[in-house]
Amino acid sequence: MSAVVPESPPPPLHDNGPGTAPGRVLSTLNEDGTRRWVRPELAAGPFYYRRLVVAWLLIASFVGLPFLRVGGKPAFLFDVLHRRFTFFGATFLPTDTVLLMLLMLTIFLTIFLLTALFGRVWCGWGCPQTVYMEFVFRPIERLFDGNRQKQLALDRKGGWQPKRILKFAVFAVLSFLVANVFLAWFIGVEELWRWMALSPVEHPAGFAIVAGTTALMFIDFVWFREQMCVVACPYARIQAALLDKNSLIVAYDSTRGEPRGKLQRVKTEDLAIGDCIDCKACVYTCPTNIDIREGLQMECISCTQCIDACDAVMDKIHKPHGLIRYTSQEKLLTGKGKVLRVRVVLYPIAIVLIGGALGWLATHRVAAEVTVLRGIGAPFTEAADGTVTNQVRLKIQNRTDATRSYALALRQAAGMKWIAPENPLQVPADHAVTTTMFVESQPGVIQSEWPIEIHVDDGNGFTADVPFRLLGPGAKK
Ligand code: SF4
Ligand code: SF4
Repeated sequence: MSAVVPESPPPPLHDNGPGTAPGRVLSTLNEDGTRRWVRPELAAGPFYYRRLVVAWLLIASFVGLPFLRVGGKPAFLFDVLHRRFTFFGATFLPTDTVLLMLLMLTIFLTIFLLTALFGRVWCGWGCPQTVYMEFVFRPIERLFDGNRQKQLALDRKGGWQPKRILKFAVFAVLSFLVANVFLAWFIGVEELWRWMALSPVEHPAGFAIVAGTTALMFIDFVWFREQMCVVACPYARIQAALLDKNSLIVAYDSTRGEPRGKLQRVKTEDLAIGDCIDCKACVYTCPTNIDIREGLQMECISCTQCIDACDAVMDKIHKPHGLIRYTSQEKLLTGKGKVLRVRVVLYPIAIVLIGGALGWLATHRVAAEVTVLRGIGAPFTEAADGTVTNQVRLKIQNRTDATRSYALALRQAAGMKWIAPENPLQVPADHAVTTTMFVESQPGVIQSEWPIEIHVDDGNGFTADVPFRLLGPGAKK
């Protein structure tokens, strides 16, 4: 067999610069507790180019979606300042507990289903951490520092090298841009423009949020990096429970690859060994620094870089692709996988039921929510002549897309005087307004309690009659 011996083998896996321990405890931690910096070699194969296209489409969506409007509202806005969540033109408020709960359940079940079917496809293809890291920050790093070997050489050299300082300056600008895109999802583009137009002195809070988010982005993409996936992300922690033996994973075919051996041995000794030539290209390209040949690991983000790296090696030694490939644990073991399993049947049923309930409730929401509360402090006052005055607080939540004018009226209150300073009550779209009213009754009319109804009419088809009990002197007992 004629085969190609790799010309210059990459540096050993454990070469991590002077003063660091040779072994490792975690994929990114040396034995002496120091950080093992990951300098992955780019494996620019077919999967990489597919991910590149997906990544840039996603980046375009991350940037563009905050500008997209549906029915005059942002398509997506997780407005944390005003505690409102707008999703394709429908605004959810903190009082929409059931709707929000159903929405979260639908999202979680969809993630569970996708993970059961396709493993960590989200991590490798869609997560903003991976997308920005691997397709924005890492390529720029290669531009300044060179390939893996040059980066490791710079690490060994240490100190402040001018091109690394320049790279950090570029990363700082990028972090600022990414931070602004991120904030646009939470405060809206209009508010973001306003913050940016004002001087820091005029708007110190907004300035602090932008500066803090930029700093967090810089720390994440410059220093924390793969640690986000390896130690911080909760999704990585729960994937063991979400995956099963038939889920799609990136895996090494040990039946075909083992026993592994160096290519020279194959040529000279003609031993019956597997297809893996132990070149470690799959390890050097891994952004979380793991060896896929050790089996499925929590640190694997299914980025497919090891597939591309290994397929390139297979091309050189004239072996078929797929020593590392998308497959399932079951298929590797038995040669047969199973798509239909209990969980992939139950999850879609649950998604349809819960999503259906969510859709029905969202489209049948009342146009307004009226809440009546007693006045703060004493529930009523009694004047010297025996006149009783109840203080009533009325809160109206306008759920429509336009300002509404709510006419208020009192029912079952014959002979009582009704003082409502704001009647009709103007409430802007998607806002809540609270007003205070007073109900005066002649001496002796209310002994202890008196049931009334507060009638609310927006003139656009919404009416509500909210019961309320006025209190009198007898209620003290
Ligand atoms: S890239 Fe392929 S051949 Fe090289 S070590 Fe990894 S699995 Fe073996
Ligand atoms: S093992 Fe392969 S798929 Fe998993 S993170 Fe490393 S390079 Fe990516």
